[in-house]
This record gives sequence, C-alpha cells and structure tokens, in this order.
Amino acid sequence: MHWADVIAAELLKRSNSHRIATGISPSGHIHLGNLREMVTADAIRRALVDAGGEAKIVYIADDFDPLRKRYPFLPEEYENYVGMPLCKIPDPEGCHDSYSEHFLQPFLESLEILGIPVEVRRAYQMYKDGLYEENTRIALSKRDEIARIIAEVTGRELEEDWYPFMPLCENCGRINSAKVKSFDESWIYYECECGYSGKVGYAGGGKLTWRVDWAARWQILKITCEPFGKDHAAAGGSYDTGVRIAREIFNYEPPYPVPYEWIHLKGKGAMKSSKGIVIPVREMVEVIPPEIVRYITIRVKPERHIEFDPGLGLLDLVEEFEEKFKEKDRSVELSLVGDVVYSDVPFRHLIVVGQIANWDLDKVLEIIERTGYRVDEITRKDVERRLKYAKKWIEKYAPDRIKFEIPEKVSVDFSEEEEKFLRTYAERLQNDMSPEEIHTLVYDVSKELGIKPSKAFQAIYKAILGKTYGPRVGYFIKSLGVEWVKERIKAAL
Ligand SMILES: [Zn+2]
Ligand SMILES: [Zn+2]
Repeated sequence: MHWADVIAAELLKRSNSHRIATGISPSGHIHLGNLREMVTADAIRRALVDAGGEAKIVYIADDFDPLRKRYPFLPEEYENYVGMPLCKIPDPEGCHDSYSEHFLQPFLESLEILGIPVEVRRAYQMYKDGLYEENTRIALSKRDEIARIIAEVTGRELEEDWYPFMPLCENCGRINSAKVKSFDESWIYYECECGYSGKVGYAGGGKLTWRVDWAARWQILKITCEPFGKDHAAAGGSYDTGVRIAREIFNYEPPYPVPYEWIHLKGKGAMKSSKGIVIPVREMVEVIPPEIVRYITIRVKPERHIEFDPGLGLLDLVEEFEEKFKEKDRSVELSLVGDVVYSDVPFRHLIVVGQIANWDLDKVLEIIERTGYRVDEITRKDVERRLKYAKKWIEKYAPDRIKFEIPEKVSVDFSEEEEKFLRTYAERLQNDMSPEEIHTLVYDVSKELGIKPSKAFQAIYKAILGKTYGPRVGYFIKSLGVEWVKERIKAAL
C-alpha cells in the first residue's frame, strides 16, 4: 500500500473530512526542499479523496515572521530591516508589494502548475482580522502553564517575565525586540530594546511565540493533519510542545503529524535558502515536467531522505517514471497532473533527437517514426509537451557530455585501423536496420577486423561529431538517417 493511502486510511478512522496544513516562511526563494511539504500534503489529499473522504490543503504564509538576518542575496541596506515582519519590508527587487509577496507569488504560481490546490492564509492578515484574538487572550492569561509545559518538554526554563507574545513595536517596527510588561482587556503593554514603551491591541499588534502560534493555528483553522520537517518532530521539539499546548491550553486535539526528511541537492547538502543552496521551485517547474517534480517526493516515504540530482540523476528518475507509468503504479498515479498523456518515446530519446533536429517538432516526429515508434495523436501531443522540457533541461541542468551539435563537416585524422573500420561499417549499414542491429554491427565488424569495440565507437563519433563520445550509436545513427551517416563517413575519410 502506498504511504499516502496508509495515512489516508488512518485519517479516515478519525473523520471523513480533513484540513491539511502546510506552512512556509517566505523569507527567501522557496525551493524544492520546501516543496516536499506541499507535495506530501497533496498526495495525502488525493489519497483521502480517492478513498471517499473530503480534504483541503491550507497554506499558511508566515509573513508576520521577522527577517532573521541579512541573507547573502540581500543588499546592505537590508541590515536595517532585520527583526521587522517580512510583510512590512520592501521587495528587494521592487516588483511586488512586499518582501514576502516577492517570494510568495512565484511559489503560488508553481503550486498551480503542480496541480496543488490551496487555501492561502497570510499570517499577518489572520492576526489583523482578529482570528488569533481569543487564543492570544487565553495564552497571555495562562502564561505560567505554557511556560511549565515548555520547560517540561524541552528542559528549558523560561525567564520569570516571559510572555508567549511578541509585540510589534510601533517605534522601530521590529517584532522580535519588544517585551510584554502587562496586559488588560483591551491592550498589551510593552517595552522595546529601542527604548520605546507603548501598547498594542489584540488584533495585529503582534504575534504569539512560535510554539504557541502553531498550536493556536491548528485550532483557528481546524487543522486535522500536518506534514512538517523532521526538526519539529524531534523529541522535545515544537510538535511535542504543540500537542500539549493544544490539548491543555486551547482544548483542541492536535493534528495527525507527518514528519518528513530533507531533500539534499546532490553534492551540495541540504537545501537552505539562507545559504543559497537552492533551486527555486519556480525555476524547476519550467525545466522539469510537473509530474516528475511531484514524483521526486511521492515515490519514497516521507521519513526517507532524498538526494536530488537535477543532472544525469534526473534522467534515471524519468526512466523509472516511464517504466512505472506502464505498470499504472500508484506513485505515478498520485504524481500525474491533469489529463497528461504519455507515449512510449523515452525522454532520453527526445534529448538526442531534439538536439539532432534542432528542437523542430516536425523533424523530431519524423525521426521518431524512423527510429521505430508509432506516431499517433497521443505521441504527437506527448512529444510536443515533453520536447519543450527536454530542451530546457539541456540548456539548464544537463552535463556537457550529454550535449552535442552536429558540425557542418568534421576535420579529424583517423588511424589506418579506424579508416578500415569506418569503410567496412559504412558499407554494411542498411537502411532497414533497427537501432539494435546498427549497434550490433559495430561489434560484428570490429571483431572481424580485430579492432577493439571501444575504438570502433570512437571512430564513429569522430566521423559524425568530431569528438570521441556521443549518444548511444544505434538510435543515434537511426535518428540521423542511415544514408546521411554513410555519406558523412565517406566525406570524413
Ligand atoms: Zn518582487
Ligand atoms: Zn522598538
């Protein structure tokens, strides 16, 4: 049984209708690592719906969070904004209303491309609208109990004058430097490190501290399930405190937790926007088909770590997807977006053929037919869609040795042995040979002439590309056209 179906079955024992929470702080480029949360939630949502339940994903943009530091991608003047809420800071590139919207908008576009429907909630707006009022009053009046829970779960004693609330200082605009001094029915009184003392109202005047905010949010948005990064899931982590705060302070049953592992970028480590080790999601969905982006997360259990390689590793992943597509595998089913069709033309083949045909669709289809694939309406539709991704992948993530251009003519020297091989090989090549036969012929001729097959392959690449490596010979020659290759070899010699 697929992991998403297992979770859905568990959830359906509790209730037929579910609200799955996801939350990302838009403090920098939202990347594939963050996307794991969204895709995990969506796989569960789909599994619930498939099992006859109802489900909705709520996406909470934590735009009331402070800017924690000036990240390497920010100009120097952003030093001044450290501590201010992300929604109150100007867009570093000036194209959106705020810092948070600048990172949020492209992410929301990506979610649409990936077929993930979300109810978007912005934290600041929720506070301003008074949604947190009731929970804030309860949290302030029960601060001793909350402090005790946090101390018991984390082993960390809080200061005597601690309050579970961060006032937004009216003077310096920071949300992480003022301390609550007291509160009454209408106001929360504070003193700020900037020297200012003032008061704020309950709606939008500040926010609950993280662990309390999380538990309050579950209740406010009626959350029943939530995937979150493994750091929150550690013993004594924020989920453990959240559970107790939800039950003991807010009288709400905490959501079903789905902790997930990180996605590492091959050779670079965990993706962290603060360190610049990221592929922004918006960029990825332009280069990699949405079903493959989803498949990266859906094919493995949430608790398993993912090593993602957008280069050659991606081709292996796509190949696996193409195989499983034929088997109607559940991971593939949960990954597909909309009414996408797949032909049996492999992505690897599109990469070679696309380069040969200079990405011209008609030429590509002609070559595909010649190389033994049936070209019908499905093939046309599929190739037209995936060829665009193949082209972008070549431009953006492909390693150099996958890329080639067919030069007008080649001027390379051949050894006597190579010459002999090429002449014989070209003579024996037949128009009606299949890619496999063309490939086998290399071995047959080299054996007959007593030359190493590796040398024989190199000679072929030299004659066609002017270098000693290239795509797999059988399909390559069939794609180029046997007649063309025969002429080419003649001309090269
Ligand atoms: Zn912008
Ligand atoms: Zn201040």
